[in-house]
Amino acid sequence: MNPAEAAQRVLSFRDARRVVEEHAAKPRSGTVELVDLLHAHGRLLAENLTADRDFPPFPRAMRDGFALIAADVAAPPSRLRVVGEVKAGAGEIDFQIRRGEAAEIMTGAPVPQAADAVVMVEYTARDGDKVEVQRSVKSGDNVVPRGAEAREGAILLSAWTHLSPAAIAIAASVGKAMLHVFAKPRVAILATGDELVDVAADPGPHQIRNSNTYSLAAQVEAAGAQPVILPIAPDEKQQLHNLVQAGLSADLLLLSGGVSMGKYDLVEQVLEELGADFFFTGAQIQPGRPVVFGRAPARGGALPTYFFGLPGNPVSTMVTFELFARTMVEALAGLRPRPPIFLSARLKREVKTKTGLTRFLPALLSGEYERAEIELLPWQGSGDVAATARANCFLVIPPDREKIDGGEWVSVLKVSN
Ligand code: AMP
Ligand code: MG
Repeated sequence: MNPAEAAQRVLSFRDARRVVEEHAAKPRSGTVELVDLLHAHGRLLAENLTADRDFPPFPRAMRDGFALIAADVAAPPSRLRVVGEVKAGAGEIDFQIRRGEAAEIMTGAPVPQAADAVVMVEYTARDGDKVEVQRSVKSGDNVVPRGAEAREGAILLSAWTHLSPAAIAIAASVGKAMLHVFAKPRVAILATGDELVDVAADPGPHQIRNSNTYSLAAQVEAAGAQPVILPIAPDEKQQLHNLVQAGLSADLLLLSGGVSMGKYDLVEQVLEELGADFFFTGAQIQPGRPVVFGRAPARGGALPTYFFGLPGNPVSTMVTFELFARTMVEALAGLRPRPPIFLSARLKREVKTKTGLTRFLPALLSGEYERAEIELLPWQGSGDVAATARANCFLVIPPDREKIDGGEWVSVLKVSN
């Protein structure tokens, strides 16, 4: 790639997002696996779930009280004869309710035939086998009719639904102890850099512990995928080549480091030699400007594998994952691409920067609802992971602003924590 060509592939934040979303929107066929319902939370459903019977399966009392015929209590107070009791889980009901009669009933119990309403116990006074009803009720009050929530055979959840706690409850209520879900995509993580040593190692004075592999693994898991950790790659072509090739056998490859303009930034060269297409080689953002997105052939003629080359500074790695890579991870997991969610807050104190880049600066969000406020945290640039760990969001500064006044409404990027 000559310099002019390379410059063309540095996109604005919006254009870079659009490119990622286009690729993420391509349909793909996921592998399906069967998981226990207790382990299905957060997964993506790969089958339709239908109601195996009417919901509720019987007219269900919504309150503790008395089941009765509404016409009998049109002019309260009314005295009715209590002819029985129905508790939740009761089987056969061995009595009938006729005009002038009522049955004591508990929440969740089946309302006896002929009764058409339940009056809450709070509006009654019991006296032996009689009950005085002090309020009128309308036919249907406090009763959920059989099948009102769903008819037998109705689709309650369709494939590709994200399994929230409520969705898990539906699966349980239709008797699915095991669910077909899409397999988690495998996302290879490859940290590059001669200065890096593993967490467990004792670093020399010139060495840095590899933290990106671990923050990326956490982000990959939070996005619903399975991280596959590769060993640290040195800034040496042949070894980097071999590890990149290993990474391309996953569903997605995330590299960190080695994408800047330095002499030993070899990631793009190695990917190019492996036949990669580059969709962009930079975005006008800070941190994370050198971020790279592309696709390279995997060994053995399999479909090409998408990759992101994320800049190595720990904050850049994290931010560029959130801004770009997350969307692709979610797409591989089966989700439709969705834009990052930006909140709004009022800026506490004036911020000055330079124009040209969309900036994502570590900040503290406080207050609630319409009183949300945000302030920048002091930081030492995109290597300052300590400031980022103290932050709970990023303040977003658009590329055309060099000053934002205190009190202005600004965009805020919340990231998973
Ligand atoms: P690079 O993108 O390779 O130029 O790296 C930029 C900065 O990030 C350098 O100060 C690196 O030492 C640091 N860095 C790169 N990779 C990692 C990593 N995996 N963990 C922690 N710091 C890193
Ligand atoms: Mg490096």
